[in-house]
Amino acid sequence: MKFSTKAIHAGQGADPATGATIVPIYQTSTYTQEAVGKHKGYDYSRTINPTRVALEQQLAALENARHATAFSSGMAATSGVLALLSPGEHVVVSDDIYGGTYRLFSRVLQRYGVEFAYVDMSDLNAVEKAVTPATRLMWIETPTNPLLKLVDIRAISDIAGSARRSKETKPMVAVDSTFATPYFQQPLALGADIVVHSTTKYIGGHSDVVGGAAITNDDSVNESLKFHQNAAGGVPGPHDAWLTMRGAKTLAVRMREHERNAQAIATFLDKHPEVEHVYYPGLPAHPQHALAKKQMSGFGGMISFTLRGSEQRALDFASRLRYFSLAESLGGVESLISHPARMTHGSIPKEERERRGITESLLRLSVGIEDIEDLIDDLRSGLASV
Ligand SMILES: *Cc1c(COP(=O)(O)O)cnc(C)c1O
Repeated sequence: MKFSTKAIHAGQGADPATGATIVPIYQTSTYTQEAVGKHKGYDYSRTINPTRVALEQQLAALENARHATAFSSGMAATSGVLALLSPGEHVVVSDDIYGGTYRLFSRVLQRYGVEFAYVDMSDLNAVEKAVTPATRLMWIETPTNPLLKLVDIRAISDIAGSARRSKETKPMVAVDSTFATPYFQQPLALGADIVVHSTTKYIGGHSDVVGGAAITNDDSVNESLKFHQNAAGGVPGPHDAWLTMRGAKTLAVRMREHERNAQAIATFLDKHPEVEHVYYPGLPAHPQHALAKKQMSGFGGMISFTLRGSEQRALDFASRLRYFSLAESLGGVESLISHPARMTHGSIPKEERERRGITESLLRLSVGIEDIEDLIDDLRSGLASV
């Protein structure tokens, strides 16, 4: 089965109980047993729910994987992966990661004795040096938020594989592939062990549901993730699972449109005299354009850029657009604009933020699938008005 067919058919067979063509929303917390322990495989919805199982099968299929575990949010999925670790174990993590991931690592997990080394993952020597005998996980995000930097998944997986120690303790490689989606990037095929998604974003695709997933081919990792899903309980409700599944059916068509619009907008911004710099892996001038072409089958729908002039000018521009809503989040059919320094990345100290390039004139676009002429007109008049 090819990608678009899997999106529509994997996990989506007719309902065995009724023949319903579309997987029903099994809005139930519990299941009636014929006799104690005699049931149809379902006992309690934190543990297992048919709508959630259908979503998990669909998501696993999209990553060409055997297993997926659905969570109530992207952060719950990340927590599930990190729960594979024990105190004293060590994580090598890219220094340019989602703010919420940084917060979870630095404010929660560090208190539990998990250790983190933040490195610039474009520097493979630095990655190799950061690996210690206690390293159990390499955490990659690619492309990154908001600067659209790439990490070479194959190269990092090779470093993990060659870390000299027995196979059981080879560091696992987990990739937060939220920006790329399985349509444009398949981390497991590049050597990663686990893929994490915030399905809130492109996979759900309509800004109407929060969710996450961790996907793997490794049976024992899957078993641990499923154990954690049930033990910690960060599960999506059946309605959320259903919305995510419905969104994911159109992932391929949406991603093609997101990318087409983003390419056109990146090119427009790149030529505009008021724009200082455009960050988009699809532009030939992007420093990792070659890696993007090699590792991804498309460049996605996210663009960041800096506007010339003051922060106030960037803020004015962001609030004057007609079709780009000023909002956090990304990946929906509607276009959004955000000011990372004050919004998504406000929790990172100013110096650290600026060091990373998240300046006060940086704006981030989640390019939707509206008509491209309307979107470009909107940006053009917004730029003219400031
Ligand atoms: C949004 C996001 C997350 C967190 O997902 P939630 O669903 O908001 O919990 C993690 N990683 C990336 C790259 C994201 O964009």
